[in-house]
Amino acid sequence: MSGPRVLFAGLFHETHTFLEGRTGLDDFQVLYGDDILRCVGDRPPMGGALASAEEFDWEVLPTVDFRATPGPTVEDEVVEKFWRELDARIPPQIDAVFFVLHGAMVSQSLPDVEGEMLARLRQRVGDVPVFGVFDLHANFTQRMTDLANCLVAYRENPHTDGRQAAQDAATLLRNCLITKQVPRMYWHHPPLMWPPTGTGTATNPMRLLEDLARQMEMEMAEFWAVNVVAGFSFADTAETGVSFVVSTTGSEERARAYLERLGSRAMLAKDAGNVTDPSVAEVMAQLDPVPPGLTVLVEPSDNIGGGAPGDGTGLLRALVERAIPNCAVAINDPDAVRQLSEVPAGDRAVLAIGGKGSRLDAGPLTLEVELLRTSEGVFELEDKQSHLASMCGDRFDMGPCAVVRHGGLTILLTSRKTPPFDLGQWRSQGIEPAELSVIVVKAAVAHRRAYDSIAARMLWVDTPGPCTSNLRSLSYQRIHRPIFPLDLV
Ligand SMILES: [Zn+2]
Repeated sequence: MSGPRVLFAGLFHETHTFLEGRTGLDDFQVLYGDDILRCVGDRPPMGGALASAEEFDWEVLPTVDFRATPGPTVEDEVVEKFWRELDARIPPQIDAVFFVLHGAMVSQSLPDVEGEMLARLRQRVGDVPVFGVFDLHANFTQRMTDLANCLVAYRENPHTDGRQAAQDAATLLRNCLITKQVPRMYWHHPPLMWPPTGTGTATNPMRLLEDLARQMEMEMAEFWAVNVVAGFSFADTAETGVSFVVSTTGSEERARAYLERLGSRAMLAKDAGNVTDPSVAEVMAQLDPVPPGLTVLVEPSDNIGGGAPGDGTGLLRALVERAIPNCAVAINDPDAVRQLSEVPAGDRAVLAIGGKGSRLDAGPLTLEVELLRTSEGVFELEDKQSHLASMCGDRFDMGPCAVVRHGGLTILLTSRKTPPFDLGQWRSQGIEPAELSVIVVKAAVAHRRAYDSIAARMLWVDTPGPCTSNLRSLSYQRIHRPIFPLDLV
């Protein structure tokens, strides 16, 4: 006798709706049918769920797995393709569904892609249990709540427990299939959102909320899962924000009472989660005079690893205006590099630099510069164990580059966005970062592995840009109001 027939599908994208452009089919890694089975032991959530399925002797029915790194709004075509391919692979008889989701996917037409996919899936498969796992940066919705029975969120940020969360969800599905008890979900969304910088689980408010949720799971046998959903605030959708989800076989009343407790605890800690960076003026005051040693100015609003364009002019302007000596910044600007292609080294040119990738920026900064050198822009990584190495191998191609100077400021102009995770980026262009007084990095946290060893100090700065922690600087149109920190609540 074979075990229960469980349909597996995966859909994973964290959509940043304030970024320019679209995420298309080419940006997704796509797996169909049996190819998904190769994820066992790999790809944390899907691999974890498949390992559990093997252990529980389920008959796995693999269908479709679409995933991409965070990026702008997804093209409708991607969602329709996903559905067509999934629909075509649903067999007539199944016992359950296991869905591996991110939970914050937005397409051109659908603010809640996961809710829509669950709705279409329900129509096709009927009343079978729908279980799964999702990222705690989901923007959970009422529709997702109504259409699935038990979705389990990661408990850790950074996400070290994707595999564990998937296995926990699979174990709950196993209990459901054995006992025939089918839970349902309830959802509570206080008027609250936090920037990503405020959602780490090592510190409050997330730590205390996670602890409270685990305690509730222990106390209440009827609660199958209590999820703390930090939300993804760089998405302008009605239901964006912090929320809580209980999957239970108990009463609605009790579920709601516990959800309210989590919600009011979060509201009490709302300011602690609104982690913002000091203004340019405040930080620049600390550089007058410029202190000894290297000062690293971190510009998270233009975080290249988070999908930002890497050409923001916020700190570039500040360095120029205050005539900071012996400083450097890298700006991704293929147009500017092209304009310099006919200029001999040592000559001067007037360039409109950066500010072209995001409408949140003040726009290009026009400067007269001296061209120091040009290059092909390929460099050997100094740190072969870095995050960048895991993405691209031993060499990185910045595209054609130009190094220019304006007063005490050196600007490395690249033609491909280069996450600042390796000092080879500078040294390959004849610039020794350790000898500078001030350097700008367009990152949030991941640059530290490269820069900690040469920095005398690191200062985070708030500038306009799509990955800003200052949520009030983003122009939300669709989000339900009032909501903290946009409004007084
Ligand atoms: Zn996440």
